[in-house]
Amino acid sequence: MSTVMKDSRSSSVFDGPYYLSIAGKLVSTDAHFDVFNPATGEVFAKAPSGSPEQLEAAIAAAKDAFKTWSVLSYDQRQRYLDAYADALLEHRDELARLLTLEQGKPLKTMAEPEVDQAISWIRQIAARRIPVEIVEENDNHIVELHHTPLGVVGAITPWNFPVLLALWKVAPALITGNTMVIKPSPFTPLTTLRFGQIAQSVLPAGVLSVVSGGNELGPQMTAHPDIAKISFTGSTETGKHVIRSAAGTVKRLTMEMGGNDAAIVMPDADWQAIIPQLYWGAVGNSGQWCVGIKRLYVHSSYRAEFVTAFVEYAQQQVMGDGLDPNVTVGPVQNKMQYDKVRSFLDDIKANGYKVVLGGEVDESRPGYFIPVTVVDNPPESSMIVQQEQFGPIVPIIAYDDVDDVVARANDSPFGLGGSVWGRDTQAAVAVANRLETGMVWVNEIHTQGIDIPFGGHKQSGIGTEHGHEGRLLFTNPKTVLIKK
Ligand code: NAD
Repeated sequence: MSTVMKDSRSSSVFDGPYYLSIAGKLVSTDAHFDVFNPATGEVFAKAPSGSPEQLEAAIAAAKDAFKTWSVLSYDQRQRYLDAYADALLEHRDELARLLTLEQGKPLKTMAEPEVDQAISWIRQIAARRIPVEIVEENDNHIVELHHTPLGVVGAITPWNFPVLLALWKVAPALITGNTMVIKPSPFTPLTTLRFGQIAQSVLPAGVLSVVSGGNELGPQMTAHPDIAKISFTGSTETGKHVIRSAAGTVKRLTMEMGGNDAAIVMPDADWQAIIPQLYWGAVGNSGQWCVGIKRLYVHSSYRAEFVTAFVEYAQQQVMGDGLDPNVTVGPVQNKMQYDKVRSFLDDIKANGYKVVLGGEVDESRPGYFIPVTVVDNPPESSMIVQQEQFGPIVPIIAYDDVDDVVARANDSPFGLGGSVWGRDTQAAVAVANRLETGMVWVNEIHTQGIDIPFGGHKQSGIGTEHGHEGRLLFTNPKTVLIKK
């Protein structure tokens, strides 16, 4: 392990080398792993593969930094986070390009907004406070409720929104006085490594470290006695490992996991007008969106015309390399996911479900491209309706009765998000209120904000991100009773 100088070069292109960020330093590794461009299927960069000892060093540095970071005032920490946002802004174009290269998402419509939102959210969250509350006061005593930082937070992130999902954790953890070690997905480590590198030029040593490497670093974090909390975003299957492993040290957990979100288009919906929103709600980020529409229920009275119009809209989109400004739909992010999404196509074919768009993968095309596929009215019991496809396949399912569609939407181990669409807002809200989900949108979709709690019900999650509720989860309630 060797360390190099801090790197704060700013340009619109960054081609490495990449380093871990540990204890305020950029650190190289003995081993590296390949990072693929999903638009070509070719290796375009090497990422440092952190060793267990390097992760250990990052956690130790975070523990050490907590002593001084946690006793700073909110205002002092806000100044650091604002400086961090300023530094990131200087690298905005470079970060967005890198995000497209490693993740595949279209540069203008997806990658740049993701980087911009992450930077803006750092500033907004840094301005929030969790004040001491007086919960009781009488002649005898005063009772205060303080919200104290937890210690070292371990962040474990997935590959679909690697920038945003990491910063959703960094900003609230740091402003509330915690320090953090991030382990990015091995499929998309580069933007997070750059966020770490840039942080070292503005934040005190050890406050934010980034260690990339294989999946095996995850269990080391989730079992580590010096990590007080794990903030995890990823699949429900991995999440169950995290929960089991974290039990040994009674860690705090925020778990953002998988979903199978239903969109219910009501009998009275102005369905022609909302096709673009429904399309992007399902196919945005090539369907690799935890709260993406994964089951689209439309009323049988207009289903046939709806399917035709949805397909027509889909045909106007251009799939390709996200760096091409004409492209609106990128590839699936990695080979593993490509194979998984293909298994849904195989199942659809084997069962003879009606495919009205896509369905066939072009084997000769380089990269991990799955054509946007629309399946007309597959049975409720089918794999594409029951499981999380996490790819650009949209099942459009007919229903006759609103009570029945609510029951079908709720008949799932998942309960992340959902949406209801109708002219009669009150009727749509009444249906939304019956969905067993952590979030539900009515006549809009995917609106998010730093004060809007975001989290899952059932096996989609524990706890919440954003909002006062989300920020509180980076703190411990501490009751102080003072006799007068
Ligand atoms: P994943 O579960 O495969 O990986 C997530 C992270 O966990 C990665 O960093 C991975 O390296 C790490 N990991 C793997 N094994 C681990 C272990 N045993 N212990 C600790 N960490 C381990 O998920 P993914 O494929 O990267 O992401 C896709 C999934 O994430 C989908 O299911 C999607 O719905 C979900 N997701 C949820 C949200 C949300 O907010 N609810 C947001 C985005 C993605």
